Amino acid sequence: MPAPPPAVVAENVSKVFFSRTGDPVWALEDISLTLEPGSFTCIVGPSGCGKSTFLRILGGLEERTSGEVTMGDAGHAIPTAFVFQEHGVFPWMTVLDNVAFGLRMASVGRREREDTARDWLARVRLSDFAGSYPHQLSGGMRQRVAIARAFATGSPVLLMDEPLGALDAQTRMLMQEELISLWEAERKTVLMVTHDIDESIVLGDRVIVMSARPGRLREDIAVPFPRPRSVDIERSGEFGELRARIWELLRDDAQRGEDAA
Ligand code: ADP
Ligand code: MG
Repeated sequence: MPAPPPAVVAENVSKVFFSRTGDPVWALEDISLTLEPGSFTCIVGPSGCGKSTFLRILGGLEERTSGEVTMGDAGHAIPTAFVFQEHGVFPWMTVLDNVAFGLRMASVGRREREDTARDWLARVRLSDFAGSYPHQLSGGMRQRVAIARAFATGSPVLLMDEPLGALDAQTRMLMQEELISLWEAERKTVLMVTHDIDESIVLGDRVIVMSARPGRLREDIAVPFPRPRSVDIERSGEFGELRARIWELLRDDAQRGEDAA
């Protein structure tokens, strides 16, 4: 049987922004990345290295300056779904309507989209909050709504930009476990930006390390831990070695950024 086509292919993607004074800002340079269907890939890199820009280009929210992006399942109604760090849910919509929103955009009928949204709310343990509004929820619950919405769209590719970045440490660990089990059950193709090295190793099949401006791919690291996984792997020596290796790669850039500031 032939291998399934990749879910996402980016080839030599570059991005130049122009500042208000007209000066070019090279945000991304020659990023090439292939994501296999059903894989979980994390991106780490110094702040300002173009991680969000790259995700936005893949999701079609931002134009690229050059390069090619191919989504495997181009015929899909909603090729990608986004989860942002904060403010990713609509404050004027109920939790249920938020989760059903992507399906509404895909012209799924009311009955079917509400059924699907209710299923997803149950899976993130928010059934009791279907009629609530986002401001009535904790930050962790709001992110569960955002994650449920992304999965509920049925999109094969989920792009997550620091989805757990605004949460406290304990909530974050719990959410990591939740995300692992949702993903293990659904096997969507996930590309997730995080500034948390441990999180990238716990969640990812691969950790992509980017370097500071202009953003380039510095290293593509395979994470050896078998699945199913839990955050308990953080206690192993192998985990510590991987964490040290990624930190080593990031430290030079972080140091340079500090020196330049
Ligand atoms: P990251 O998510 O890695 O922190 P971003 O993708 O947000 O980085 O930004 C990459 C670089 O591009 C930064 O230097 C940022 O200032 C610049 N940038 C991002 N968006 C714009 C924009 N709309 N106009 C000009 N510069 C931008
Ligand atoms: Mg960002």
